[in-house]
Amino acid sequence: MDAQKGIIAVEEFNGKHKINENYRPIAESLKAKFRELEYVPVKNILFIENTEDKRKKNNSTVYAQISKIPPKFEEIIYQVTGKYFEYMLEIFKENTYAMSREQIVALIYHELRHIQLVQKKDGSEIDIVGHDVEDWLNMVEKLGLNWQGTMSQIPDLLGDGVNWESIEGPMNLFPAETSLKLVK
Ligand SMILES: [Zn+2]
Repeated sequence: MDAQKGIIAVEEFNGKHKINENYRPIAESLKAKFRELEYVPVKNILFIENTEDKRKKNNSTVYAQISKIPPKFEEIIYQVTGKYFEYMLEIFKENTYAMSREQIVALIYHELRHIQLVQKKDGSEIDIVGHDVEDWLNMVEKLGLNWQGTMSQIPDLLGDGVNWESIEGPMNLFPAETSLKLVK
């Protein structure tokens, strides 16, 4: 993590894509706490706030997305800065401004879960994986279908004694009758 210290050279930036290092400690803490995030190279992630787009996909709000930095730009950024970044986690500020800290923590967890060790024919490789229920099952079960949009409290995933086993899921969960919100 030290190698990535002080990555911001321009303190006052008012453009559309704004690097925000405040998400990094959350990601580091989540990785330290949750085994399922063990392969996530947090130090190689750029945390970027998209300050303008109200992103939607299939009529659902997109709160954040994680993607690979194109290899060309990995090399270019490395040469310009001496720092290596492999992924970018883009947070859509216009869609997340009303979220509580707990929801932001859950959102970062959600996005980091997309980076997994994947078995490929030439061996295993860390890569981005999709989810089949438009979310991660443990999040839907324990935080509720609408954990991103709810105005009620959700647990702080980084809270003492809070783990997936300790969280009591919401009652009356009938996924088949409810349409899932897309969190990309
Ligand atoms: Zn997702």
